[in-house]
Amino acid sequence: MTMKYQTEFLERIERTPASMSYRFKVPEGLHFIAGQYMLVDLGNELVHPLTISSCPEETAFIEFTKRMTGSPYCRRLESLEKGETISVKGPSGKFYCDDSNETLVLIAGGIGITPIRSILTSLEKKKERLCPVILIYGNLNREDIAFRDELENLKLTDYRLVHVLSNTAGMENAYQGFITADIISKEVPKESNVQYMISGPPVMVEAIKKSLAAINVTEDQIRTDMFLGYD
Ligand SMILES: Cc1cc2nc3c(=O)[nH]c(=O)nc-3n(C[C@H](O)[C@H](O)[C@H](O)COP(=O)(O)OP(=O)(O)OC[C@H]3O[C@@H](n4cnc5c(N)ncnc54)[C@H](O)[C@@H]3O)c2cc1C
Repeated sequence: MTMKYQTEFLERIERTPASMSYRFKVPEGLHFIAGQYMLVDLGNELVHPLTISSCPEETAFIEFTKRMTGSPYCRRLESLEKGETISVKGPSGKFYCDDSNETLVLIAGGIGITPIRSILTSLEKKKERLCPVILIYGNLNREDIAFRDELENLKLTDYRLVHVLSNTAGMENAYQGFITADIISKEVPKESNVQYMISGPPVMVEAIKKSLAAINVTEDQIRTDMFLGYD
């Protein structure tokens, strides 16, 4: 059964010029798995599904990170005052990783990083994942990379972050362009069993699925999280 909770707004944190995190008190009784989302209801029919970008092991707050588009929903988020109460419903979603010994390849486009940030931070805090983890993270330019410092400094046993940017100025080690089959082939070891998780706007997720099919990755190796509402 989906549960509804009231929660209190704590603080906002700017992640990039176009994305903002919003932290709330953890509602009593809420349990979630890293990678899940909630329906965040700001009143007056302003309701959107937003992924919980914090992880279950971060117990001081739950956090949602929104790409700011100037929509009525975003304007309402911007107007939230400390201590104000909103409703959240959930958690929902099956975009989480199984305990397994497979190589985990996470592919994020822009704000699609939110469930992946939660999953990776959770793995770091649990110190359980010993097999390789590769994050391939696509953005327009350096300034658009949400959670960059944190993701670059994650302490996992075998972890690599591959940046793919449309404009690589200031990021000489990044690939230039979009995430392609060629980049994935170069970065993912051929011999290993691989679980892929893709998150981002629908167009991006579909494009990556096609790229994976082109390099013979089967559907059962892929999990996706589509951020409906973005082109
Ligand atoms: C499972 C899930 C998790 C998501 N997690 C995040 C997240 O962590 N961060 C984030 O920034 N965004 C996330 N989104 C997208 C978010 O819910 C909004 O749809 C998106 O942010 C656009 O809202 P807006 O307020 O910017 O623009 P709006 O003007 O409200 O929406 C833009 C356009 O998209 C349409 N639309 C809006 N929401 C939906 C929807 N759910 N389904 C179909 N059409 C829709 C609107 O009718 C409008 O035409 C997620 C979406 C899903 C489905």
